[in-house]
Amino acid sequence: MMKHIYGYTIEDLKDYLASIQAKPFRANQLIEWLYRHKIKDFNEITNMKKEFLQTLKNDFVLDELQLVQQQNSADGTMKFLFRLIDGNLIETVLMKHVYGYSVCVTTEVGCNMGCAFCASGMKKKLRNLETYEMILQILMVEQITGLKISHVVVMGIGEPFDNYENVLKFLHIINYPLGLEIGARHITVSTCGLVDKIYSYSNFDLQVNLAISLHAPTNQLRNEIMPINKAYPLEELVKAISFYIKKTNRRVTIEYILLKDFNDTLECANQLADLLHGLNVYINLIPYNEVKEKHYKRSSLDAMHAFYDQLKKRSLNVTLRREQGSDIDAACGQLRSKHMK
Ligand code: SAH
Repeated sequence: MMKHIYGYTIEDLKDYLASIQAKPFRANQLIEWLYRHKIKDFNEITNMKKEFLQTLKNDFVLDELQLVQQQNSADGTMKFLFRLIDGNLIETVLMKHVYGYSVCVTTEVGCNMGCAFCASGMKKKLRNLETYEMILQILMVEQITGLKISHVVVMGIGEPFDNYENVLKFLHIINYPLGLEIGARHITVSTCGLVDKIYSYSNFDLQVNLAISLHAPTNQLRNEIMPINKAYPLEELVKAISFYIKKTNRRVTIEYILLKDFNDTLECANQLADLLHGLNVYINLIPYNEVKEKHYKRSSLDAMHAFYDQLKKRSLNVTLRREQGSDIDAACGQLRSKHMK
């Protein structure tokens, strides 16, 4: 059976090389050919023998994703709809920033978390993405646009901690110095709050940023919009975040979507400040991208600024996220769900 080489970590490559009695240093060379030179055929490799390249060709496939649709926004955001080998569709988003280009990576086909405001969860999870399918999202975006990606956010469709092993492999592979070389501090993984995985993740060896989708300051409100809160209520989530911060000495990002007349009152701002009191966190307030099928509305600018000011007053680190790509279905899962109707 053909193996997907973009899913191979350096250790996997070394194991493979050992199994065919080849030297382990070939692993580094392969990483360089795959991710720096971006070969389309093993025959492009110039520093390995022909028979060895034939063995690679027999064992591995250099996969691609099929581009089904591309949407370009006036602000430089691009959205890509890709078809996987088994026919499933996924979305990948490219964003332009002053500091470089970031890609928002999808981790699952669909999502089981069922957040009430989110378009991704309208389609149940069909399967996890394999590591190579996550890697290919970055390679394809670089290939299509000719750009070098400097930042990665694992915030596309799916819950990354519900596909934990594959996502961690993905993070290792994009970080290799001889490969895509995306700095750990330039990578952010976002979770809706799988508490057991937050504990495991505190042992992860890369300095990747962690973001938590909090979106509500009380269990009552959070239960209404995020089913995961019933499994892991706020007290447990905050305890896990606090443990993670102590263990890793890293600041955690708290994501908070502002939903009109739901979680955007000053009372909510104060409850949020109380909840996060004393934690080394950074709050990212997010304007809601409205989803046609959902009844939630974006907060008014006034409400967003008042919420922001209140958190500032309470001495929290907070920013109001600049919105991107709202003219192109960039809200999570919207392009995919349109295509599947
Ligand atoms: N499952 C992970 C990662 C994917 S979602 C998580 O929950 O964190 C990435 C972020 O986008 C989450 O904070 C999610 O709540 C938010 N999001 C989902 N739908 C949105 C929408 N319509 N508008 C704004 N943010 C949204």
